[in-house]
Amino acid sequence: MSDPVFVFDVHLDLSMNALEWNRDLRWSIEKIRRWELSMTDKVDRGNNTVSLPEMRRGNVGLCVATQIGRYSPYFHRLPGWNSPEQAWAQTQGQLAWYRTMEEAGELVQIRNLLQLDKHLELWSKAPSDDSITHSHKKQNRLPIGYILSLEGADSIVSLKHLERSYEAGLRALGPAHYGPGRYAHGTDAEGPLSPQGKELLKEMQRLGIILDVTHLCDECFWDAMDIYDGPLWASHQNCRTLAPWNRQFSDDQIKEVINRGGVLGMAFDGIMMVPGWKHLRSKPGDFQLKIERICDHIDHICQIAGNATHVGIGTDLDGGFGTEQTPMDLNSIADLQTLPGLLNKRGYTQKDIVGIMSGNFVDFLRRTWNWLDLCSYSTGGRSYRLREWRLNWLFCAWRPLWRGLWTR
Ligand SMILES: [Zn+2]
Repeated sequence: MSDPVFVFDVHLDLSMNALEWNRDLRWSIEKIRRWELSMTDKVDRGNNTVSLPEMRRGNVGLCVATQIGRYSPYFHRLPGWNSPEQAWAQTQGQLAWYRTMEEAGELVQIRNLLQLDKHLELWSKAPSDDSITHSHKKQNRLPIGYILSLEGADSIVSLKHLERSYEAGLRALGPAHYGPGRYAHGTDAEGPLSPQGKELLKEMQRLGIILDVTHLCDECFWDAMDIYDGPLWASHQNCRTLAPWNRQFSDDQIKEVINRGGVLGMAFDGIMMVPGWKHLRSKPGDFQLKIERICDHIDHICQIAGNATHVGIGTDLDGGFGTEQTPMDLNSIADLQTLPGLLNKRGYTQKDIVGIMSGNFVDFLRRTWNWLDLCSYSTGGRSYRLREWRLNWLFCAWRPLWRGLWTR
């Protein structure tokens, strides 16, 4: 068996699972399933596919992990907090969980290029697949890297809160989630970006926070394209042509993301993979849904782009669903390791495959964080930004020399 490919999963809701599902993600998925056996409060009880040991087993050494807190208008059908302030407090609780996992050595926060390179270097020396699966003694215990993101901006009480979030490590933000939002409207909703939404985008661009266009309704998506020039990606985003529903992107939207140098993360939620899935009624077996289906979405994006550099992985595997809504051959996030073989059969080169599993999003971050650091330098950005830029510069500029010394 070939070595597992390093995976960068650009969309996981880890803290939501820890605090709203009461899942201790340090447990195995089997232990979590046993504990949830008789629970009925959420549809995916006992079907979870994500935990930190499973991520390590699947060589998922890096992820974008969300904070999420919705504000819901009075008597709106979607659940949410009655004020943005409550939603903010919810996200701060989630941040506290990430910090606690950092203290426990389970996670490490990645905020800049220097930390990214250091982390990738660490994982490049992780034990091989054989030692991971067959020997508990040698099991990889490395901390999993996470880049902090916010899904839905309702909890950003004011732009000052956005700046505080940036200082806490927030590096990507999706202004919308499902339904109407304070800043932008999301999936299954309609309407333009609000004036507040436009201010939010400007401030994100100033701070260098990546715009996550996933979940924006079509009108807000195009409004955002008119006023935003900063870096953007679509963290968990499949193709509307292959799974018709406004949650997925049209070919024009995919083209726009590609033209702006963005990357789209492939989501492994059945409802986003096949046409005709009925929410809470359909089952993977009804469609004989397998992991291979995601290759159709990958192919589609690569055809539009004319290359394989704009697609990556953003599984969403812990986004409020489990095996009742994932491909039949996906029991755990570690099963992502079957994807390289499937892509190989379709004619993707090893370089393409490594790019899709992690490299394309990593390269995006390299471009973005390099560029942002330079911008913050040239515009006399905040002092802590400047410090990061200097560190990055020192690290990048002298790396060839260090490498030369090491290999001697
Ligand atoms: Zn989502």
